Amino acid sequence: MSSTPHSQHAPSYYAATCNDSRYRPPLEGSTESDVCVVGAGFSGLATALHLAERGYRVVVLEAQRIAWGASGRNGGQLVNGYSRDLDVIERRYGRDAADALGGMAFEGGGIIREWIDRYGIDCDYREGGVAAALNRRQLAELEAMVPGWERHGHSGLELLDERTIRDHVNTDLYVGGLLDRWGGHVHPLNLALGEAAAIEGLGGRLFEDSPVVRVTGGERPEVLTGQGAVRADHIVLCGNAYLGATVPALRDKVMPVSTQVIATEPLGEATVRRLMPSGACVEDCNYMLDYYRMTADHRLLFGGGTVYGGREPGDIAARLRPHVRRTFPELGDVRFDYAWSGNFALTLTRIPHLGRLPDGVWFTHGYSGHGVTTTHLAGRLLAEAIDGETERFEAFARLRNIPFPGGRLLRVPLTAMGAWYYQLRDRLGL
Ligand SMILES: Cc1cc2nc3c(=O)[nH]c(=O)nc-3n(C[C@H](O)[C@H](O)[C@H](O)COP(=O)(O)OP(=O)(O)OC[C@H]3O[C@@H](n4cnc5c(N)ncnc54)[C@H](O)[C@@H]3O)c2cc1C
Repeated sequence: MSSTPHSQHAPSYYAATCNDSRYRPPLEGSTESDVCVVGAGFSGLATALHLAERGYRVVVLEAQRIAWGASGRNGGQLVNGYSRDLDVIERRYGRDAADALGGMAFEGGGIIREWIDRYGIDCDYREGGVAAALNRRQLAELEAMVPGWERHGHSGLELLDERTIRDHVNTDLYVGGLLDRWGGHVHPLNLALGEAAAIEGLGGRLFEDSPVVRVTGGERPEVLTGQGAVRADHIVLCGNAYLGATVPALRDKVMPVSTQVIATEPLGEATVRRLMPSGACVEDCNYMLDYYRMTADHRLLFGGGTVYGGREPGDIAARLRPHVRRTFPELGDVRFDYAWSGNFALTLTRIPHLGRLPDGVWFTHGYSGHGVTTTHLAGRLLAEAIDGETERFEAFARLRNIPFPGGRLLRVPLTAMGAWYYQLRDRLGL
C-alpha cells in the first residue's frame, strides 16, 4: 500500500497553508459499507458527515486528494441563497417551490458554523459578506431581494449606499450593496480537511488517489476503482464538474466552467484595514463577477473570470491583474504569490440539481458558482433522504433539469454567447 500521494492539490494559497497534510492511501481490495460516496469535495464530505452523525457506516472515494476540486480552491465565501434568486425560482417553478427552497436557503451556512464549533475546525472563519452593486440596476435588484429573504427568516441584512459600503470596501467602484451578516468566509481547504477528520472520528473511512471507474446501481450496488471495490446499500455521486464521463447519464446535466483566483503577497495589517475595514468578503453583482477578501495573513485573495467548458487559461495573473487594479488602484503592481484555476458545474437554470438515477444511485451537483453553503445543505438533504425522510430532498429533485441547448458540441459556444450578452449589459450598466 502506497504511503505517498500520487496526486497533488492545485498550487494554491490554500494548499500552501493547509494545516493537515495527512495522506489517506488508496482503496485496495473489496470492502462493504452502508453508503459509498464518490468524491471528497464539500458535497461528498457533507453527505458523509451528516450520515456518520446519523450512525451510518460510510466510505468516501476520492480520485485525487481531499477537496482537490472546487472545494479546496474556491474564494472561500459563504454566500447565502442560490445562484438564482427566489423570485426567479418562483417565476419558473411556482410559489410552492420557491417557498420550499427559500425555507432552506440559509441552512448551509448554519451547518458550516455548527461543524466549525462542534469539531473545533481551524479554518479562519470570518463573519460578513457584501454583494456590491456597480450600477443603479444592480442596487435595485439587491433591494428587491431583501423582502423575500426576510420572509424566509433572514434577519441579518443591511442595505448599503455609496457611502456606507466604504465601511467594508474602500473603492470608488460601487454605488451601494447589501451586507449579509450571516455570510462570511473561510479557508475552504482547511474546512474540508476538518470535515474529513470529523468523518473519521465517527468511524467513516476515506480513500485518496482512488478514482471510481464504474458505478452499478440496482439490487446489489457496487463501485469499482482501479484496485478495489465497495459494496454498499447506497451510492452517492458527488464528483460535480470533475465527474466527467464516469456516469454518462449525468454528463450532460451540467457544464464545467473554470474560474481563476490569485493571492497577493502579504499586504500588512494597516493596508488590509484601510482597504477592507470590516473584514467582510465582497462579490460584485456582474454576470461575470469579481469576488475577493483578505486572508488571515493579510493577503488579498481575488477571483474572477470564467471559461465555459472548464479550460484552464494560460496566464491567470495577467487576466486578473486589471480587475485587481480597477478595484484597488494602489495594488496595481502588487506581487501575486499564487495563481490557480478550478472548475465548478453550471446548470442551465443555475439551480442545484439533486436526484436519483433510475437504478437508485443518488447524486448532487450544479451549484453554479455558489456552492460553499449549498453543498452543505445538499449533504444534509441526501442524508435525510437515505434515512427515509425524503420530503426536503424531493423539493429539489422534482425541479426539472433543463439540458443546455446545442448538445455536447455546441453547448459551450452557445452558453458563451448568452453570457456575452449579459456581460455587455453589465458593461453598459443596463
Ligand atoms: C475557483 C472557484 C471559486 C469559487 N468560489 C466560490 C465561493 O467563493 N463561494 C461559493 O459559494 N462557491 C464558490 N465556488 C463554487 C464551489 O467551490 C463549488 O460549488 C463547490 O465546492 C462544489 O463542491 P463539490 O464537492 O460538489 O465539487 P468539488 O469540490 O469539485 O469535488 C468533486 C470531487 O470529486 C472528485 N471526483 C470526480 N470524479 C471522481 C471519480 N470518478 N472518482 C472519485 N472521485 C471523483 C474530484 O476529484 C473532486 O475532488 C467556486 C468554485 C471555483 C472553481
